Amino acid sequence: MSEDKNCFFCGSECEIYTAPLMHNVKDYRCKYCGPYLLNHHFIERNSHINETKNKFKIACILNERRLKGLGGIALSNKTDKVDKVCSYPQVSVDDILDEFPKKASDFLNRTLLNLSRLSERPFDIIQLNIYDTSADRLHLFALDKTACETIIRELVEQELIRCDCNDIDDRDINLTAKCWEIVESLQQTAIDSKRVFVAMWFDESMDAYYKNGIKQAIEDAGYIAVRIDLQDFNGKICDEIIAEIKRCKFLISDFSGQRGGVYFEAGFAKGLGRPTIFTVKKDDVKKLHFDTRQYNHIVYDSPEDLHKKLYNRICATIV
Ligand SMILES: [Zn+2]
Repeated sequence: MSEDKNCFFCGSECEIYTAPLMHNVKDYRCKYCGPYLLNHHFIERNSHINETKNKFKIACILNERRLKGLGGIALSNKTDKVDKVCSYPQVSVDDILDEFPKKASDFLNRTLLNLSRLSERPFDIIQLNIYDTSADRLHLFALDKTACETIIRELVEQELIRCDCNDIDDRDINLTAKCWEIVESLQQTAIDSKRVFVAMWFDESMDAYYKNGIKQAIEDAGYIAVRIDLQDFNGKICDEIIAEIKRCKFLISDFSGQRGGVYFEAGFAKGLGRPTIFTVKKDDVKKLHFDTRQYNHIVYDSPEDLHKKLYNRICATIV
């Protein structure tokens, strides 16, 4: 049964259900933060989640996830990542907080990307209500009306948006051609990429592990799997590998079969600072090279096992 109440993080009116068979877990459906599960015992034990500043940061990240088209999550702590709750992956609150932009360029780029996602077509008018309690401010990573006004003024000065002030709290915004150019170039880079580079052994014995394990886990988490032998491309394969690794958000490197190329690609991605998830078949663990053995590998014994562990790792570490 649903009851209309307020979102725990952004305060907007939202539908709240009690998760089946889990009386402590509330299932929120917020039009900003999207669907999420929250265990109220967990909140009582982690009082920092109740701080206004942290609620705001979490709401910003959940709103950004929703705008990106990513699915619902169960908020949890670092230690219980293993299982899903009511089909939602568990994501740690600290990982979510860590996703909040820190540098000025991150604030700017991610605000522009959020605004672009609010436009059905380029140059559409976006209506923003900047009143203190309106959750529209989440699109701008702005805590209150004053912060909204400062950001909007800066974007106008940079000629990234045009802005009409309809009344004291409503703003009609549209993105300029200059802004769309920046958005398009950001979409080509890792910041907003949905692409996940898969480095692995291209052998028939690995087909089921790729299709039902790796690829399925990537897609279930809302990303696109890129395996270089399956892409059409012109030019040398090596150039294409480098370009794809630069373009991807993160990498999955499977070391089963001990292919030299996988070690090269994982090393290149690490050098670029791309998050890299290491996986290996149980039978192959002992053969891992000394240099990479210290990394925390997902060890699996079936495609289903790989799917489950990898999906949880992606959702828990890559927001
Ligand atoms: Zn919300």
